Amino acid sequence: MQNYGFQACGVDGAYLAFDIKEEEVPEFVKSMRLLNIQGCNVTMPNKTAAAQNMDELSPAAELIGAVNTIVNRDGKLYGHITDGEGFVANLKDHGIGVEGKDIVIFGAGGAATAIQVQCALDGAESISIFNPKDPFFARAESTAEKLSKETPDCKVSVFDLADEAKLKEEVANADILVNATLAGMKPHEELTLIKDKSMFRPDLVVADVVYNPAETRMVKEAKEAGCKLAIGGKGMLLWQGAAAYKLYTGLEMPTAEYQKFQEENENK
Ligand code: NAD
Repeated sequence: MQNYGFQACGVDGAYLAFDIKEEEVPEFVKSMRLLNIQGCNVTMPNKTAAAQNMDELSPAAELIGAVNTIVNRDGKLYGHITDGEGFVANLKDHGIGVEGKDIVIFGAGGAATAIQVQCALDGAESISIFNPKDPFFARAESTAEKLSKETPDCKVSVFDLADEAKLKEEVANADILVNATLAGMKPHEELTLIKDKSMFRPDLVVADVVYNPAETRMVKEAKEAGCKLAIGGKGMLLWQGAAAYKLYTGLEMPTAEYQKFQEENENK
């Protein structure tokens, strides 16, 4: 996608994959300065180590303590995280804003935290986080604590996913319901965190971050129940990449042309 954007916009660049181990991140970051690499993306498990080696962090990256995009400006390295931005941009592309909205989010891992922070920064009214009582639960509590200081106008609450009555109550009051867990992702296609389908209402927006499969069971059932919008994670993937592209080139990714190109070449 990045190489497509470079070609389409006449940028003299190449996007390459490098296999870097977590303990090698500081050395890689140094080589970005040495080789004058203009930017890069960082994926799991290197996002936290990368954040610890930046000269400056964006507000979202600072709050999350992770970066997925690095921009090199004259040897100074800026760390950003575009996962949350990609999620919000994808909703916007479907005509939905997060400002003033009540949002229920499943998950407390990397994707979920990025979405929670971005939605709070973008003016969501409230965020209710549901997660199993696994090791990620404490991260949800820590996110809620940080956001209560940084974005006090957004009310953030954390609940045990096992509390079905609370989940029903929160979803009934929500504008947007998001799954940002592994539920529904291959090989867990049969798993949905909405067991009671009567929770879906026509005015509820349902979004999944899972993009494999493109349509999860939760999204499929939300569509069948008549929710006004039910979308999978492919659009978020596109928009987080487009946001990274803009950060290192200053240009808009030709997303519509790229999507057409991708559809035409998907099965080749
Ligand atoms: P992670 O490992 O950081 O977090 C996993 C989360 O899932 C945790 O909150 C955990 O408690 C929860 N979980 C795991 N098993 C569960 C179960 N059986 N029931 C309920 N909750 C469960 O993972 P991540 O990096 O945040 O990725 C989560 C999902 O988001 C993956 O499917 C990934 O592909 C997707 N993702 C999509 C995009 C995109 O652009 N669309 C970007 C990043 C991640």
